Amino acid sequence: MQVFKFGGASVKDANGVKNLVTVLQKMGFKNTLIVVSAMGKTTNALEMVIANYFDKKNELQSSLQDVKKFHNAILLDLFENEQHPSFKRVNSLFEELSLFLETNKSPDYNFVYDQVIGYGELVSTIIISEYLNEVDLKNNWLDVREFIKTDNYYRSAHVNWDITQQQILNKFDKGILNITQGFLGSDSNNFTTTLGREGSDYTAAIFAYCLNAESVTIWKDVPGILNADPRYFENAQLLNKISYREAIELAFYGASVIHPKTLQPLQRKEIPLFVKSFLEPENKGTKVCKEAGLDPQIPCFIVKKNQVLISLSSLDFSYIVEDNLSDIFKLLHLYKMKVDVIQNSAISFSVCVDNMYQNLNPLLQHLKAKFKVTCNEKVSLYTIRHYNQAAISQIEKDKEVLLKQLTQETMQIVTK
Ligand code: ASP
Ligand code: MG
Repeated sequence: MQVFKFGGASVKDANGVKNLVTVLQKMGFKNTLIVVSAMGKTTNALEMVIANYFDKKNELQSSLQDVKKFHNAILLDLFENEQHPSFKRVNSLFEELSLFLETNKSPDYNFVYDQVIGYGELVSTIIISEYLNEVDLKNNWLDVREFIKTDNYYRSAHVNWDITQQQILNKFDKGILNITQGFLGSDSNNFTTTLGREGSDYTAAIFAYCLNAESVTIWKDVPGILNADPRYFENAQLLNKISYREAIELAFYGASVIHPKTLQPLQRKEIPLFVKSFLEPENKGTKVCKEAGLDPQIPCFIVKKNQVLISLSSLDFSYIVEDNLSDIFKLLHLYKMKVDVIQNSAISFSVCVDNMYQNLNPLLQHLKAKFKVTCNEKVSLYTIRHYNQAAISQIEKDKEVLLKQLTQETMQIVTK
């Protein structure tokens, strides 16, 4: 068994769908499960629909219409003839969605969100399944909600592994080409749930785990996992091999590699994960597996822009120790600050945080009651895994370094 995951960018238009076929033809599709996300930016577009629905905006119908038109154009490109059954199938999904919006009585945003957002994946997999049949890649369309069972923590549901494993064992036919939706699951009342934005990789890992798959491949628009984000660093290099642990570390420091949630089930069964380019499927890409820390052994760079560095010292020169620290952390938690780095000395304490929820001002007010506070906004946090002097110099060049911290494998630098 192999599991292939195709994200929204890989199927953003008819050419993407055709390219998916090319990938399958080149790489083989025996005993394969394909997990697919919503096409292009559909999930964002459906988020607009949901917002319009709750805000009772007049744009509700037009935003819904945009989503329909986008898919209709792809259908026309792929099938030309509007009599093709795929048009009807897609249309009836959209009718189902409209009916839901007309009749829904629940005021619960998260619940409604999941019921609506799931249509992105349902529609994309119907279109792709139909197209695969059209080009004679006979396949079996699965409603993932019959397999992945979760609690009802809408928008970030937790998998019920026992029932999910049971459902997959009982209902999944390994001998054929299967296609299903990423991101979705269902609760015990069969309402749609979702696993969190960008959750399709996780879906692939859940199936791989339950099916004891040989491998998972995530098809991307980059050649694999790089040692730096090419948007911010020149000369980003491809990593050939990287251990689960290293990948989890990189993700922890903010690299948009692979979510740790995705890696955990794979790591438990030692199922290798490949990240490859859907444009160059024969290239090796990156293999994430148990062995090998990192190959090649080069520094990896992660940058988080727009962070906040807060430095505190006691008003009366008393030490900053356990009781102060516990107060500080309570406040950081209260204001939902994601802590990136901390550094402390006898009478001062610095923390670099991600102000994700725009709570900086109330936090500072609160802190100022007890401490002398200085705050630097819009700083950048650089993390270098497996640093060397050249890597450090490259980061520090032309920048004002506000804080620097190193452990054996990791260096963190906050710059202005
Ligand atoms: N379509 C969902 C999203 O954009 C899930 C995914 O792409 O993984 O978040
Ligand atoms: Mg997506």
